Amino acid sequence: MARKHLRHVSIVGASAAGLGAAHGLRRRGFEGPITVFGDEPETAYQRPALSKRFLTSGDLQPDDIRLRGPAEDVRVELGVRVTGLDLAARCLRLQDSDSGRHFTHSVDGLVIATGAAARELPMPTPPGVHVLRTAADALAFRAELTRSPRVVIVGAGFVGSEVAASCRSLGLDVTLVEAAATPMERVLGGTVGAALVGLHRDHGTRLRLGTGVAGFTGDDRVTGVRLADGEVLPADVVMVGVGARPATDWLRGSGLPVDDGVLCGPDLAVADRIVAAGDVARWPHHSDGTLVRVEHWENALRQADSAAATLLAGAGRAPAFAETTMFWSDQYDCKLQLIGHPRPGDLVTVAEGDLAQRRCVVVYSRSGRTTAALLVGSPHRLRAYREAVGSAVLVADVRPSPDGPALSNAS
Ligand SMILES: Cc1cc2nc3c(=O)[nH]c(=O)nc-3n(C[C@H](O)[C@H](O)[C@H](O)COP(=O)(O)OP(=O)(O)OC[C@H]3O[C@@H](n4cnc5c(N)ncnc54)[C@H](O)[C@@H]3O)c2cc1C
Repeated sequence: MARKHLRHVSIVGASAAGLGAAHGLRRRGFEGPITVFGDEPETAYQRPALSKRFLTSGDLQPDDIRLRGPAEDVRVELGVRVTGLDLAARCLRLQDSDSGRHFTHSVDGLVIATGAAARELPMPTPPGVHVLRTAADALAFRAELTRSPRVVIVGAGFVGSEVAASCRSLGLDVTLVEAAATPMERVLGGTVGAALVGLHRDHGTRLRLGTGVAGFTGDDRVTGVRLADGEVLPADVVMVGVGARPATDWLRGSGLPVDDGVLCGPDLAVADRIVAAGDVARWPHHSDGTLVRVEHWENALRQADSAAATLLAGAGRAPAFAETTMFWSDQYDCKLQLIGHPRPGDLVTVAEGDLAQRRCVVVYSRSGRTTAALLVGSPHRLRAYREAVGSAVLVADVRPSPDGPALSNAS
């Protein structure tokens, strides 16, 4: 039921979580004014497409990957950056990017949905070195690819790996540099990472693993990437994909708790009539209370809905956010789907299929209970493993695949 004393709601961030919260509020019967502020100039779009088909289909425009907009009675102010929050006066400080005009906006209910920004390397970067977070970033990088450049990608996380795959599908010369021993190792562990080495190599991507980047060569324009071991990789264009940092600068001095994200309660409440959702939110995970921050599209959408419920019910009166969300990554001809959150120290077992064939289910478990599952080329197993991870069942109890081999127990 809509909270009676909530007069209006401001949402900062006009992407998956921000618009999702607006949908959630209206769906739950909130009829008061909702204003969404977003600093990007364009209407919200499917960010995950940026490293995939947006790069490979050269004529796609942000309009072609648009998100469903909010209800007509939701005001969306684009090209407006929120620069601060005055909690005592309960108002936002804002700046219009076009005119430079500063103004304030009074706040009753507030949803923090500012997501994350691409991390940059702590060194000078000449022109030709890119990051990828926004449609503007993707357009700038894509424009460079038409000249058949040699591409070096720094960081083999999911964005770097997907960009490598997209550039290879365009027939470009691609080298992927990663400080860890294997791609995506920090999240998926070394066993899966080793299989991903094979995936990249089989598709003609060169890898430089276990080495960091010391700097770039070229002044007016990048000519190469200097590795920590002294080797210089020739490059005409570089993509830096070394992760993202939560967009919380605007909350500095506001008094709200910020530590690698906005700290929330289990129901995503941050303070009185303030909630957070999406890449910016860090909350105690329902499985064990560990503080986590998750950069996944589905997580942003589901949290937005849950945060809307909390805002309407009041902190402590709505259920904890306890959804089992899925992250996907498309690399070459391989679809990866990660359900749940693997933790360092989890036991890693190939529960079905063959990792070398890149058609399998890898289960992460702790004390025999499933904590996460990675589906490699196995989307038909999504439902069974979402249930398994959601209820943390014993690995051996996962419903067998109708067309696959029997499961083996992880323990
Ligand atoms: C290239 C790429 C590929 C991805 N691929 C996948 C994938 O395959 N699968 C998957 O699950 N996830 C993927 N993700 C992650 C997914 O896109 C994010 O988890 C999701 O976008 C998070 O939504 P959000 O609304 O929390 O944050 P965001 O989408 O980051 O949106 C936050 C918005 O707030 C705006 N903002 C920030 N600060 C301010 C401010 N002070 N004032 C006003 N506005 C502000 C930002 O500009 C942005 O528009 C990908 C991300 C990237 C960058």
